[in-house]
Amino acid sequence: MKKHVFNAGPCILPQVALDKAIEAIKDFKGTGVSVLCISHRTKEWEATMEETRQLWKELLNIPEDYEVLFLGGGASLEFLMIPVNFLEKKAAYLQTGVWAKKAAKEAKAYGEVVIVASSEDKNYTYIPKDFSVPQNADYFHITSNNTIYGTEIKEDKDYGVPVICDMSSDILSRPVDVSKYEMIYAGAQKNAGPAGVTVVIVKKSALGKVSRYIPTMLDYRTHLDKGSMFNTPPVFPILVMNETLKWLKSIGGVEAMQKINKQKADMLYAEIDRNTMFVGTAEKDSRSNMNVCFVMAPGKEEFEAEFMEFAKEKGMVGVKGHRSVGGFRASIYNACTVEDVQALINCMKEFEAIHQ
Ligand SMILES: *Cc1c(COP(=O)(O)O)cnc(C)c1O
Repeated sequence: MKKHVFNAGPCILPQVALDKAIEAIKDFKGTGVSVLCISHRTKEWEATMEETRQLWKELLNIPEDYEVLFLGGGASLEFLMIPVNFLEKKAAYLQTGVWAKKAAKEAKAYGEVVIVASSEDKNYTYIPKDFSVPQNADYFHITSNNTIYGTEIKEDKDYGVPVICDMSSDILSRPVDVSKYEMIYAGAQKNAGPAGVTVVIVKKSALGKVSRYIPTMLDYRTHLDKGSMFNTPPVFPILVMNETLKWLKSIGGVEAMQKINKQKADMLYAEIDRNTMFVGTAEKDSRSNMNVCFVMAPGKEEFEAEFMEFAKEKGMVGVKGHRSVGGFRASIYNACTVEDVQALINCMKEFEAIHQ
């Protein structure tokens, strides 16, 4: 049976990227050597690194003064590297979820941290609107998409201070005005590739402004100066990401992707709002186009386990909500198709029919 993969991360990837990755495992670029065994110092690999950087620059229309880095350690290591590289006195954080909270926690060891607003009071089901960012903050950190609770900041706004954004779970889902950010980062495994590589898009002129000693591996300048090859880069995840970016380019880039993502999200939210068995958990004006969270409607709670099983039998994979929220979450990242979403909708309709 065809599986419809709604995993929150690592996520579904385009089949063509997987096929190309399999080819490269057998023979990388006709070298007769597997990509898993080549030296990262070969010209073939260096070309792939450069091509991957260029694809990012092209797809997100990244301005001149920025560089794209490929690092290890996940988005979680960036939570630490950000304050180490950018926090001199004070930083501001918007607490829209558990990831945002974890990011702020790391900063507290390096300076004053101001939480400008938090939606923790309502289990992170909305994006706070009324807040002011201290204008003497070294930076303002936001999390554009809250993977766990299904809320999303969909615009690139000015906040008066340099903005650093965790875009782990919605990068490449829409066009982004990179110039509005001092740094954007994303663990690849939500929308850009497999686990094992983190993408950092950083404004070069923003680096080197803090007075502390920065350990070599934690210093963005180390990776900038060495083209992300100061040490062995995560070769295979970068290769799969490269193929994923080529796929995205081939379908029309982030503009085309945004339209498809909006279509998928609109379809699924419409069904959640219509279907008497389910309700959405995020406030409507904060709803994410990537992670769609819903629970059984009031009075229907007893059917939760049954729907889980029903969906599984129909080939749905990964629609279980995060363990801290419960219910259901369908992650409809770039490589998830309109057909996958339609299959889930059909499944919800059938389940409703059985229980009427
Ligand atoms: C998954 C996730 C992270 C953590 O990423 P790792 O690469 O596992 O460290 C951070 N932020 C957001 C928004 C995420 O979705």
